[in-house]
Amino acid sequence: MGESRERIVALDKGRVWHPYTPMDRYRAEVDPIVVDRASGPFLWDVDGTRYIDANSSWWVASLGHNHPRLVEALHRQAERNCHSALAGMTHGPAAELAERLCAVAPPGLPYVFYSDDGSTAVEVALKLALQYWAQNGRPERVRFVSLEGAFHGETLGVTALGGVEVFRRPFAGAVPEHLFVAPPTGEGARDTAGAEAALAALLDAHADRVAAVVMEPVVQGAAGMRMYPPSFVRAARELCSAHDVFLVLDEVFTGYGRTGPMWACELAGVSPDLLCTAKGFSGGVLPMAATLVSERIQRGFLGAAERAFYYGHSFCGNPLGAAVALEVLRVYEEERVLEGAVPRAERIAAAFQAMASLPQVARSRSRGMIGALELAGDAGYLAEAGWRVYDEARRRGVYLRPMGNVVYVAPPLNVPEDVLGELLDVVHESVAGLG
Ligand code: PMP
Repeated sequence: MGESRERIVALDKGRVWHPYTPMDRYRAEVDPIVVDRASGPFLWDVDGTRYIDANSSWWVASLGHNHPRLVEALHRQAERNCHSALAGMTHGPAAELAERLCAVAPPGLPYVFYSDDGSTAVEVALKLALQYWAQNGRPERVRFVSLEGAFHGETLGVTALGGVEVFRRPFAGAVPEHLFVAPPTGEGARDTAGAEAALAALLDAHADRVAAVVMEPVVQGAAGMRMYPPSFVRAARELCSAHDVFLVLDEVFTGYGRTGPMWACELAGVSPDLLCTAKGFSGGVLPMAATLVSERIQRGFLGAAERAFYYGHSFCGNPLGAAVALEVLRVYEEERVLEGAVPRAERIAAAFQAMASLPQVARSRSRGMIGALELAGDAGYLAEAGWRVYDEARRRGVYLRPMGNVVYVAPPLNVPEDVLGELLDVVHESVAGLG
């Protein structure tokens, strides 16, 4: 290790503005983990301390850190071509990846548009929906419907669809007003019926001006791992079809087996018109994303040159990212990642169910490789209690970044079972250890 921990922290605190971080507090109070290396479910600090990464580094490392096959694919591709533009040229990795991605995608999504991250994958979907209607006879369709508590990323376009109040508030005056509907709050049929009726009423009233309904299927990650029944996704699909409005599913977090099947929309047995994927898509190795597109939507862009989609990032279809993402799909298949996650998901479910009876816990829930609990007391993203659990867990060797009063795990799908057991024990002890 060339540089001391103190030097890195001093440089960092002098210059680096951290995401989602009150910086004055960070500088004054936080002794950050300084990651030196990462492997599988673990992060190592430069001082040699090992941490289990409970959230797969913001939900990206679904196959664990530095999976040897992904690193090898990256090396191989780097020696041939790190980047060439996708404007009127192509390359093997982008083409092969698109073929393989469509083969595992929900039915009816035969085209792939590449971008850089989850935010841009959703931004692409929004622009495709808007331009489709603009040039196919319904230019007045310029609004979106999204869910209360929604999170679709960081650009101004997708911020407008965000339903987490503290993230949205500073920009509320600068973004278009879209329409929000409350998702079902529980697993009960009555909740679902009420939410479906609300969405139906909204579309009855406004469908003429709506380009698409946009939702995170089944789990709203950044809202605090809020979970709702797949039947609501099915209802949304039916209502969108009835009103001829597009359904955009943001599978940036829920895709790649996080909720059980490859895509959360499989739980509902439906396909969207546009599907957004990122995070696990490139195995946590590089920023890379894709928006999958229906036949109908692509057809709406053919004909005169002015009907084309004039959009594309510099790194669109980046060969390194594409080569890695292609290897991710091979690993999923050959290492039977989804099958392997089933017993792991059962352990998560059992552990979070057990934690529900702790006096510190208001409620808990799980779905696939996600377990979450809400601590009793103040709720919301700015609540402090989760950070006390973070401190406890860190002392016990786990990186457990909370969202306000929500403590959750979203480990790699292939986390070794003994490591998962250790992780769940630490979560339990850290929550139970709160006063
Ligand atoms: N959509 C969802 C559902 C997400 O959870 C996130 C990120 N947490 C995004 C979009 C944005 O992805 P990115 O941070 O890669 O831009």
